[in-house]
Amino acid sequence: KLSKRLTAVARHVSPHAVLADIGSDHAYLPAHLVLTGKIERAIAGEVVDGPYQSAKKLVTASRLADKIDVRFGDGLEVIRPEDNVTDITICGMGGKLIRDILDRGRISGWLTGQERLVLQPNVGEPLLRTWLTTHRYRIVHEEILEEDRKIYEIIVAEPAQENLSLTSAEYLLGPILMNNQTEVFRKKWLRELHHRENISEQLRSAAANHQDKLDHLTKEINVIKEVVFSDT
Ligand code: SAM
Repeated sequence: KLSKRLTAVARHVSPHAVLADIGSDHAYLPAHLVLTGKIERAIAGEVVDGPYQSAKKLVTASRLADKIDVRFGDGLEVIRPEDNVTDITICGMGGKLIRDILDRGRISGWLTGQERLVLQPNVGEPLLRTWLTTHRYRIVHEEILEEDRKIYEIIVAEPAQENLSLTSAEYLLGPILMNNQTEVFRKKWLRELHHRENISEQLRSAAANHQDKLDHLTKEINVIKEVVFSDT
């Protein structure tokens, strides 16, 4: 059975997509999408041998080898123009790594900029929002969910005509998430607020001067208080 997190990701993949799932590990996500009939074809990319072998094993055992092509390679380099990939999923990694994969893909031409992106960063979401909005992508959906006491965000982006800019609150909290605040969202940001307050406290009592870091944290703390906890 697919995790709640990957089930949520799967819902955002377009019907009949040609999917490239990058960092696919066991290829659970493409296998689920093909087995449920939502998509017909997928590429599962892996750059580490262990997970690559797991993906191959699962695809063969599920008799999906004619529909899911498991390829060994770094990031988007596993995508070929003749694949006509429509959707790319990159899940379960840090936002910085996902951003670097996208940016290397853009520079090398593996990413055409016409793909729908379904991203699930474990941390570092603002870095991704910044990359997307400065590379002609529009954030069309965001989701936040909790599974096994971990909180995950999903960011879905589609090609846009031009670059868009978000407010600092939107980069930090998510333009869609902050306007539709759920209990999980508030739980995450209560944690993040306390975390930032603790670090500020430590920096203030440290011997060295950390003014720049402190200013940055204070800004974020104020944004969180204003946008999420102004009523409490
Ligand atoms: N996407 C799956 C999920 O969300 O459950 C697996 C997540 S797993 C934590 C991250 C996977 O990404 C690992 O299997 C790792 O080998 C792979 N990975 C990391 N960097 C990669 C890269 N540059 N290209 C392809 N795969 C990568």
